[in-house]
Amino acid sequence: MIEFVPLRKNQRVELADGSFVTVTDKLGEGGQGIVYRVRCDGGEERALKWFFIGYLNDPKKFYGHLKDNIQVGSPSDAFVWPEQLTKWVEGETFGYTMKIFPKDYQPFSKFLLARVNFANVRAMVDAALNMTVAFKALHNKGYNYQDLNDGNFSINPLDGKVLICDNDNVVGHGEYSGILGKPRYMAPEVVRGDKQPDKSTDRFSLAVVLFMLLIGYHPLEGTKTNYPALTNKYEKKIYGTEPLFIFDEKDASNAPHPAIHKNAPVMWNFFPSFVKAAFQQSFSQESLLNGKNRLLEQDWLNILMRLKSSIVRCPHCGEEMFLESDKATVCQSCKKTVKAAGYLNFAPRANHEVTVPIFNGVKLYDYHVDSASEDFATEAAVVLEKPGKFGLKNNSRFNWKVKTPEGKIFARQVGEVLVLAANAKIDFGNKNIAQVIVND
Ligand SMILES: [Zn+2]
Repeated sequence: MIEFVPLRKNQRVELADGSFVTVTDKLGEGGQGIVYRVRCDGGEERALKWFFIGYLNDPKKFYGHLKDNIQVGSPSDAFVWPEQLTKWVEGETFGYTMKIFPKDYQPFSKFLLARVNFANVRAMVDAALNMTVAFKALHNKGYNYQDLNDGNFSINPLDGKVLICDNDNVVGHGEYSGILGKPRYMAPEVVRGDKQPDKSTDRFSLAVVLFMLLIGYHPLEGTKTNYPALTNKYEKKIYGTEPLFIFDEKDASNAPHPAIHKNAPVMWNFFPSFVKAAFQQSFSQESLLNGKNRLLEQDWLNILMRLKSSIVRCPHCGEEMFLESDKATVCQSCKKTVKAAGYLNFAPRANHEVTVPIFNGVKLYDYHVDSASEDFATEAAVVLEKPGKFGLKNNSRFNWKVKTPEGKIFARQVGEVLVLAANAKIDFGNKNIAQVIVND
């Protein structure tokens, strides 16, 4: 084994293109190498990952793999992607540069231990949306992740922005990095040894990460899996051969342990029915044992958008909650019941219902007013309440056409407020129409 020589302060390291960076500081150390802060000759700062070469199975192949990924480029801004390789000093090792991690971001693991909390419910939902969109971009670019786990994510608790690091093992579809992933995040068929990681197993891992982000617990760790020591044999059982969702619809034998997972039922009940249904499908026995019925990133995007537009403040206690569109919801803070006056009903997207409850302060986004848009951040309308009536303020890019049930047609310009009347249809443009449905 070649002896690892760490870099020294002020050491100059030559990059593959012949330019140099200067080591200024050590940022951290992981299983694969050390990360340094470096300064480029132009003055800008970067991080440099410097590998423990003895830990790489096939360093030559790995160098080539990183070179390929740099050439294809980053799937989106969310990825802390390798930017430039260093020259490979013969007999020594190599590394690559990437952008420096901004300060406000916190490791996902800290959120899971409740050492860091989101500023509000919206930031939490945005984090889920940002993770989903990042993995969609990754898959669209022809990659899959293979060892997706909580260590890959850092999140800004203020706005839910996500950064994905440790992208070294990302590979193209059909390739195999040789890395199996952490058992807790691996698809059961990979744990069982039936299959190598791919796009479909990544989707299972994404559902696990989303469940942990929103509910705060692991979907397969309940009463039944409360072993004193987690040996390989038990790990294979829990995550591979006998996996059972803690909120399985038919089998409650792995339900949350009343003492250990005390908060799990509270968090579960905090979420509306369509989110529970999405997790029940993701962790059904069909998904766990046969790899079927898993949700695509596109499915999650629609589900999470519906979730984002259901955030309201409880009128009784002022806490944030998710409001169902067409049925009463119990506020988990004060246990009082809240019900929307009605809802806006859009055409389904990718077979998912698109509804927005009519309730003071509810927001619509670009996603809603433009059926081709996946922009979940730009606000396009807000529901306003006055005694006895609700209005929808047009903050979008478009003028709206409104058709009353009597057949009258009128327009609402950008900046105007539309009073929401039963059964009226709002045409946001390009045949993207929502109907006002009043609840009983
Ligand atoms: Zn309340």
